[in-house]
Amino acid sequence: RAKAAGGNRYELADAEADARAITRHGLTTALPAALERGEFFIEYQPLVHLDDGSVHGAEALVRWCHPQHGVLGPDRFIPLAEHTGLIVPLGRWVLEQSVRQAMAWHEQLSGGSGGAGGAGGAAGPLRINVNLSPTQLHHPGLVGDTVEVLDRVGLPPGSLCLEVTESALIGADEDLLKPLRQLSEMGVDIALDDFGTGYSNLANLRRLPVSVLKLDRSFTQGMQRHPADPVDLKIVEGIVSLAHSLELAVTVEGVETGAQAEQLRRLGCDTAQGWYYARPGPPERLHALSLADAGPSL
Ligand code: C2E
Ligand code: MG
Ligand code: MG
Ligand code: MG
Repeated sequence: RAKAAGGNRYELADAEADARAITRHGLTTALPAALERGEFFIEYQPLVHLDDGSVHGAEALVRWCHPQHGVLGPDRFIPLAEHTGLIVPLGRWVLEQSVRQAMAWHEQLSGGSGGAGGAGGAAGPLRINVNLSPTQLHHPGLVGDTVEVLDRVGLPPGSLCLEVTESALIGADEDLLKPLRQLSEMGVDIALDDFGTGYSNLANLRRLPVSVLKLDRSFTQGMQRHPADPVDLKIVEGIVSLAHSLELAVTVEGVETGAQAEQLRRLGCDTAQGWYYARPGPPERLHALSLADAGPSL
């Protein structure tokens, strides 16, 4: 309807909104069966040490291979799963797959025998980062399920990092922090994801059981201009020095160019993730990357 006049544009917008609502409804009702039918899969994106480009680990990112709509990204269905509670079994599935995958890499890179306490490959054992949404954080089975999976698979707790968004922890009371604290005491790392997008009080960081800050992509974007915005530089520099003084490691998201990587390395960030290094992909690719101990792969 290219010829549609102003009045019709609203109808078109309404129709689009309706279509989106219908799709949302359809996706929501299809979620439980999708989990049973095995329509979800995980892509892994490497996390790289900024100083030498070696692979530190990977973040697990879930996707849905929908029979009609094709591959859907998590932004399309995680909020729906969150809303219906399906996020709990889905999250458990992601955790299990990811922990098994980390163990498989560990065994492959340490020569196949999987000897306990082995030093792993040249880059050390790969770590796996798994995202948690707020509902999972509130679920009473979180600690038990996590411990059970780690035990059963045999992955050391120190190889797992759970990512929780800053906004999920804003105003969190001790009850909400307790399970994270328990996991942290067992050696599981907790990362504060998308850091800088919430309104958290920096002083608040001290009372959170987190050991990693993941700087949001919006900061990395500020490094893209050449020369980078001096105010952005100052802000990142300040966050990094605060984080380090609290003994938190700093990861940056969304690194797309070598110039950004270099800038962030100079600012003292520890690890990075982004298209410059690799897009999210199948687990075999990560294995190959760490064997090659490669830097940029694009
Ligand atoms: P996130 O945890 O902040 O993950 C990083 C997102 O940035 C991913 O999007 C990743 O593909 C994207 N990304 C990585 N490098 C670059 C880059 O250089 N440039 C740009 N433009 N983007 C980059 P993705 O895979 O679409 O995931 C979106 C969000 O969905 C995640 O954000 C996370 O909050 C959520 N999510 C993904 N998997 C899970 C899961 O298993 N459970 C839960 N609860 N949430 C998940
Ligand atoms: Mg994340
Ligand atoms: Mg993030
Ligand atoms: Mg993000």
